[in-house]
Amino acid sequence: MAELEGLEFGKSDFVLLDEVNMEQFMENLQLRFEKGRIYTFIGEVVVSVNPYKQMDIYGKVAIEAYRGRELYENPPHLYAVADAAYKAMKRRAKDTCIVISGESGAGKTEASKYIMQYIAAITNPNQREEVESVKNVLLKSNCVLEAFGNAKTNRNDNSSRFGKYMDINFNFNGDPTGGHINNYLLEKSRVVQQHAGERNFHSFYQLLRGGTDDMLSNLHLQRNPEAYVYSKEGASVITVGHAEEDAMKVIGFTSEEISSIYKIIATILLLGNLEFECDGEIVQLPGAGSVSHVAELTGTEPETVSKALLYRTVATGGGEVIEKGHNKLEACFGRDAFAKALYERLFAWIVGRINTVIEVKNYNPALHGKNTVIGVLDIYGFEIFDNNSFEQFCINYCNEKLQQLFIELILQQEQEEYHREGITWQHIEYFNNQIIVDLVEQLHKGIISILDEACLTVGKVTDTVCLETMNTKLGQHPHFTSSRLTSTVLCLPDVVFLSHFVPCPPFQFAALIHPTSLHLPLLPGSADPVLKEMWPDGQLSITEVTKRPLTAATLFKNSIIALVENLACKEPYYVRCIKPNDVKSPVLFDDARCRHQVAYLGLLENVRVRRAGFAYRQPYARFLQRYKMTCEYTWPNHLMDTDREAVEAIVTQHGFEGDVAYGHTKLFVRTPRSLFTLEQERAAL
Ligand code: ATP
Ligand code: MG
Repeated sequence: MAELEGLEFGKSDFVLLDEVNMEQFMENLQLRFEKGRIYTFIGEVVVSVNPYKQMDIYGKVAIEAYRGRELYENPPHLYAVADAAYKAMKRRAKDTCIVISGESGAGKTEASKYIMQYIAAITNPNQREEVESVKNVLLKSNCVLEAFGNAKTNRNDNSSRFGKYMDINFNFNGDPTGGHINNYLLEKSRVVQQHAGERNFHSFYQLLRGGTDDMLSNLHLQRNPEAYVYSKEGASVITVGHAEEDAMKVIGFTSEEISSIYKIIATILLLGNLEFECDGEIVQLPGAGSVSHVAELTGTEPETVSKALLYRTVATGGGEVIEKGHNKLEACFGRDAFAKALYERLFAWIVGRINTVIEVKNYNPALHGKNTVIGVLDIYGFEIFDNNSFEQFCINYCNEKLQQLFIELILQQEQEEYHREGITWQHIEYFNNQIIVDLVEQLHKGIISILDEACLTVGKVTDTVCLETMNTKLGQHPHFTSSRLTSTVLCLPDVVFLSHFVPCPPFQFAALIHPTSLHLPLLPGSADPVLKEMWPDGQLSITEVTKRPLTAATLFKNSIIALVENLACKEPYYVRCIKPNDVKSPVLFDDARCRHQVAYLGLLENVRVRRAGFAYRQPYARFLQRYKMTCEYTWPNHLMDTDREAVEAIVTQHGFEGDVAYGHTKLFVRTPRSLFTLEQERAAL
């Protein structure tokens, strides 16, 4: 058994604090961070502080120490949660999930990778080839997704600009048989514009810097990212090599597919450099050369490209289809929208392609037993910028949903269990943010519904009218306030943030009114097989295409509701990541920043529930089974009438009566320390 950490490293579980308050919590968190103990438990939840330096706590030896152990037997670690989720899945045939949350740069993606490496390391002891290949593809998929979905931001050099949920499927042996990835809301606005000091997605720079001269010349590209409007920002930063191409090959992308992907990236860069000229009312494209390059790369004709960029097709009230010329602003907007749509669909196509490789094949439950799942969720945390747009609104709404699930599962379920077991429950006050979730998502009167209305009638409903509708419908809501200072800026402070004590972020109202996509007639006619697959709606008739599409907000809402439903039917494990400072320092613990995160992650409430409650519980029979050998009344012979009496005998013999409560079917232990004594004694026998 691994040694228990000494107290000079602070308390390894926040439930062991002398008193539960912010001061003690922060003191312990800081002490542990400074002593290089980046993980701390709250019961089964792991709190992680980004060390911003390589730690010698991962790898083979550590994996062996955690493999198959109970949570309280080892110091806190991601491996302990990964193992707990794996054990529950394997022993009890439960579907489990690991939810990793925290703000940008807190270490979520790194944590998800360590968890996946752990699972890969402890499975398939017989090295069966087909299982090894599944594991390899699962691990490599991260590399591809990061190349296309991550970017350098001011807060994280490798920031995930999409949410990822990955299911790993297991057979009855507990070996991985496949998986499935869901991606959420790629930040596609980054394709055409980046904040100062930030960059476009890594893939653009990787192609420009890593591609051979021949390749680039076939793609009509220059090597220098500064030559392109879309990639010139932050272009001087040296980037990683070309690992994603190897990873794509391992996963099974064909060379034709890889070549199509590069063509799409090149198309986007070339589109960004297209400029429009005005001749009176008429908008023209002077760069004929670039247009023909775009046509070549997308497998279309130059005339089709020009037409798609200069005109739009609209259905008139009478059902007639007409072409209407863009003005210069519309043309620029259309070009950017086209570039964003291309990248978004490319990303979705790549995820879909990986899914076809990793999906479980030939699984026969009758033959192989129940197929169980561990889900890993690595999704963006709360985001507050000076200017908050549609994406921040969605991200923050998603976090409210996840927080709601956390509250529901951890707090409510705990209370219910104590109630069921007849144990006195000390009531805990907590903020149930369901009210905020409802405010955003309720049909007809929620914010998203009102925005939808506005999107569907763009041109007729102005910002001001929409704002008024919101005021009328939501004005009385305790968590809604809207600012009337200007007609185009809507303040949704309490809407999204009240429960988390974060100051008011103004959302650009215009950015919230956000139709799904423009009608892009160019690509369905493409000769490129990948582009064709990316535009399956290409076959639709014009009237179908101009039909009211679901808005981006509704699509996102639906995907998040489905995600939360999926998580809710699994046994959840949590990793809560904290970013110690904003300057990526391994030694600086910025108290104010950390305090803030502890508050909005609801960690103190979490500790209170575990404490008012009990850190550990076990049915009497199971407890007895594990510890009967430590007590003379239960070993070698069980001398008591019932399991409960036998358990009482064990507890009394070890002197921790004050630390337990007896439920109808289970023993509840307040602190993990009592169990640790038992574990030590058991191991010494
Ligand atoms: P985002 O929401 O922007 O994607 P994130 O929470 O996924 O952020 P990561 O990309 O996982 O953040 O971590 C940011 C950086 O912090 C990493 O690139 C790495 O340098 C460092 N880091 C995070 N976790 C660890 C760790 N366990 N050990 C060493 N360094 C780490
Ligand atoms: Mg990340």
